[in-house]
Formats: sequence, structure tokens, C-alpha cells
Amino acid sequence: MSPEPVASARPQERPRSAELYERACRVIPGGVSSPVRAFRAVGGTPLFIARGAGAQVFDADGRAYLDFVCSWGPLIAGHAHPQVVAALQEALSRGTTYGAPCAAEVELAERVVAAYPAAEQVRFVSSGTEAVMSAIRVARAFTSRDLIVKFAGCYHGHADHLLIAAGSGLATFGRPSSAGVPEAFIACTRVLPLDDEAAAAELFAREGARIAAVIIEPVPANHGLLPQRRAFLQSLRELTRQHGALLIFDEVISGFRVGRGGAAERLGIAPDLATFGKVIGGGMPVGAFGGARKIMSRLAPDGDTYQAGTLSGNPVAMAAGGATLDLLSRESGWERLEASGAELERLLLPVLAAAPFPVHLVRIGSLFWLSLHGAGAPRTAAPLTAAESAHFAALFHAMLDRGIYLPPSAYEACFLSLAHGSAELARFAEALRGSLASIA
Ligand SMILES: *Cc1c(COP(=O)(O)O)cnc(C)c1O
Repeated sequence: MSPEPVASARPQERPRSAELYERACRVIPGGVSSPVRAFRAVGGTPLFIARGAGAQVFDADGRAYLDFVCSWGPLIAGHAHPQVVAALQEALSRGTTYGAPCAAEVELAERVVAAYPAAEQVRFVSSGTEAVMSAIRVARAFTSRDLIVKFAGCYHGHADHLLIAAGSGLATFGRPSSAGVPEAFIACTRVLPLDDEAAAAELFAREGARIAAVIIEPVPANHGLLPQRRAFLQSLRELTRQHGALLIFDEVISGFRVGRGGAAERLGIAPDLATFGKVIGGGMPVGAFGGARKIMSRLAPDGDTYQAGTLSGNPVAMAAGGATLDLLSRESGWERLEASGAELERLLLPVLAAAPFPVHLVRIGSLFWLSLHGAGAPRTAAPLTAAESAHFAALFHAMLDRGIYLPPSAYEACFLSLAHGSAELARFAEALRGSLASIA
């Protein structure tokens, strides 16, 4: 049994986190290694985490929280699962990296190929960003075309040609969503709205012969959770096929999360290429991309498309991924996660019905989002109003005070793990009831 979380305190009452943050800000930009961790959207001092166990994290001041961030998705087995830790220790004792092939990468590749029929071959990298970057390069090589199509509200990591947001109005030419992205890259990317077959058809009618690939999160989970209609995704499958372009499913979140075969299996739609990350590394830095052999064989050393990595496929990371996928298969992991998601939904519906402002639960399996959009559960990326953002910040801190750690942004999805049992789900629902009441 996990101990009851101690109610957290105000930032000034978390002296160790406050001290670490102050030191961090001197030597790390914004004090963090990835921006959303900095609590800018909710205010306050980020928690510095000292330890994780199962469904809990413990901050540097010794307080416990139920964790619904799960490191933004990877920790599908929970923190420090004994079987994952054992696999890591066993691998570590034989060295951390060889810069040469090893059995563990062949085994993980065989698992991916068996689970995901569209991936006849895979290659491992060290992050989701790298997986997407490499998939796009091989798509461009295979089609001998340059243009990439992406969707507003989808995130594909921080490679230059994907840090493009929707332009104004109906323009499909995007604008950079970051400084430092060259004009020349923007010129190669088109941005479309989600949930809009007509916009995609119109773009292909105009520029179809120049489009190398369409990339989409089949379960968009980086601007809240924006479930798509199957017919829309199927239309992208057909359009790309008609025009000789490739369809890339970015399954960095959905892969091995929404089911063994990811979103492709759930939807019954096979992409030409797919990218993986997060769950596939079991908490270690792993990404992968895969697809049809005829496309993947364009990669060096078989083909002319360069792609490489010093630590790619290293035995420790592969062991964590392998142990995690093993666990999910052996313990009916995806069925259990689906059941946990459904249980949480049952618990939350009456709580949300009584909320003082509109809160909608959007859920796909063990991924869920508390949508504060007054309009309900959107299918396209829409910004929250200032009032809705303020409600989220208040909700975030009220939950933190009750020992529940949510992602510190209204646009981030929450995750369940195998360690989130009925007791944890009930505690979440109760904390949400109390938090909403305290804001009212
Ligand atoms: C997290 C994420 C990425 C980037 O992965 P990193 O490992 O953070 O580089 C890419 N695509 C999607 C859909 C993601 O959620």
C-alpha cells in the first residue's frame, strides 16, 4: 500500500524545491531542461522530484503526490516498476553502450514489427523528435519531393521544419512557432486544420505533386486531446495514396499506449511510416521509426539516406523498452489500462456535472484530458480564453494542494499507468470534487 499523500504546501513552504529552482535558474535557461516543466502557465515554483514509486512521485521536500503526468507518457508501468528496474540493472551490469549491434535491439525491433504491421522494419533513435526528423528525411528521399503537410495543434518534436504554426485565416502557409527557424524551412511546410477533409483535398488539388508526406498525430494529444473522426484520417490515407505522397502517423504518444498496435490498429488504418517514443523506451531515451521495407531500405547503409546515432539502440535503453512491452503483454496491460480509464470516467462524470464552470472529460484508453473549453470537447486546436486559463491554473494548484500532480498546462493530456488502481482513481475524483468546490 502506498502512503496517503501529504497535502502539499504553497511554494514558500517547499524550501528545497525553491532553493533548487533558484540554483537551476542561474545555470539552466528558465531553470528547466524542457520548457513546460517551468510552471509558467500555472504560476509558482516547479516541484523538483526526488523519487518516484508506482503511481507516486515525491518532491525534494519529501511530499508525496499521485502522478498523472507519468513523465508525459513513457511511464505506462508506473515509476520504478520492479521488473523494469531488474531488467535495467541486469543490462547495466554488462555495460551501458557498445556502439555496436546487440541482441536487445533486435529483440525490441522484432516486438515492434510484430505489434505494428505497417512497420516491416524499424530503426531506433534516442527521442521522438529524432524519430520524426528521420522519418521525414526518408519520406522525402523516397518520394523525391520536399513539401511536408502538418496539422495545427499537432506536435512532432522540435525539428525546424515542424516548428510551424498555422498562418492567419485560410492560408496554408505557416509561420514559425519558434525564433531561429529559417524562412526556407517554412516554405517547405504546409499547415492544415484538423477535422477538415475539404481543406486537405484542396491543398492536394493545388500542390499534390510536390507533397512528400502528410504527418499527423492520429490521436492528437499535444493541444489537449483532440479525438479525430476515422473518416477524416481515412481521407488522408486516400489522398496521399492518390497523389503518391506518404502518410506518417506520429505515434510517439499513442504507440503502445492506446493498444499494442497503437492508433493504427485502433483505427484500422495503415500509415506508410510511423514514429514511436515515450512508452517504447520504458522511461529511457528511446525513439523509433518504421515503415514498409521498400521505404526503410532507402536508409544508409542499404540506401542513400543518411541517419545515425552514437547511443541509438543502446542495450540499457533497449532493456527498459523490452521489459515494459513484455509486462504490458504478459499482464493484459492494455485491457487493464482501458478498464482503468473507463473507471475514472465513471467516477468523474458526476463530479464534472457539478463543476462551477464547464469541465469536460475527453478520454481515449488511459489518456485523458480535462477540457476547460466552454464549448466542450473540441476536435480542432482552439486557444483557451484568459478566464479558462485562469480556471486551469486555480484547478492545478488546488489539486497539487490535495496531493495530485497534473501536467502544469491546460493543453497537456494526463496519463494513467498500470500502477493507478481503484484507490488512486477514487482519490483523484475526490480531490477534483474538493478542488472544484474550493474554486467556486
Ligand atoms: C513527445 C512527442 C514528440 C517528441 O518526442 P521527444 O522525445 O520529446 O523528442 C513527437 N511527437 C509527439 C506526438 C509527441 O507527443
